[in-house]
Amino acid sequence: MASLLGNLFILAAPSGAGKSSLIKALLEKHDDCPDYPLQVSVSHTTRKPRPGEVDGVHYHFVSRDQFETLIEQGVFFEYAEVFGNYYGTSRVTIEQTLHRGVDVFLDIDWQGARQVKKILPDTCSIFILPPSIETLRERLSKRGQDADDVIDSRMNEAVAEMSHFGEFDYVLINDDFSTALAELEALVCAQRLRTPKQALRNVNLLSQLVGSQQS
Ligand code: 5GP
Repeated sequence: MASLLGNLFILAAPSGAGKSSLIKALLEKHDDCPDYPLQVSVSHTTRKPRPGEVDGVHYHFVSRDQFETLIEQGVFFEYAEVFGNYYGTSRVTIEQTLHRGVDVFLDIDWQGARQVKKILPDTCSIFILPPSIETLRERLSKRGQDADDVIDSRMNEAVAEMSHFGEFDYVLINDDFSTALAELEALVCAQRLRTPKQALRNVNLLSQLVGSQQS
């Protein structure tokens, strides 16, 4: 996957850190930016759709058998079992999208992040944390409708995911939403300006400016 024009980003977080809202806000802000298109990858999963989730939009919903066949066929760029369900990213879709110069966000867990970093070490990996354990518990308790043991089990899953923050390139703390969004945009911008990508995107300009002097 050499000389890909688009940038690949990994965004990981425990449930309740505000990852989906940040991705949604980032995409909305970049809707009117044709020079730098940005997409979120749609994963395959064996999890059942939640109310309001649409097949092909939020996930490609498949059975466990179908997922295991796709694993055997080598369809996945990365995949993992997360809290009892399979989740995976299609290799062909990612490659084609990056080749077209579109930046891609992967909303994946730490296991997937590890696999992607092995294949494409230049991938920018970002971990989002909540501002405090109390805020996380509050966000996970969904307005007090769930039993304590359900909330405890969500908290345990969140702590397990957060324990991997140190494997990521950047850590964002989502306290004030607009600050976290600005920080995320800054990371996207910095990644786009990295020299190898700028050299690919600006071949003509660079050959005009430095011609054969370019090393
Ligand atoms: P949820 O079921 O709440 O949508 O997602 C559960 C977890 O699975 C989240 O941490 C999410 O980031 C992760 N996830 C979603 N899609 C993928 C994927 O394609 N690969 C991996 N490794 N994790 C994923």
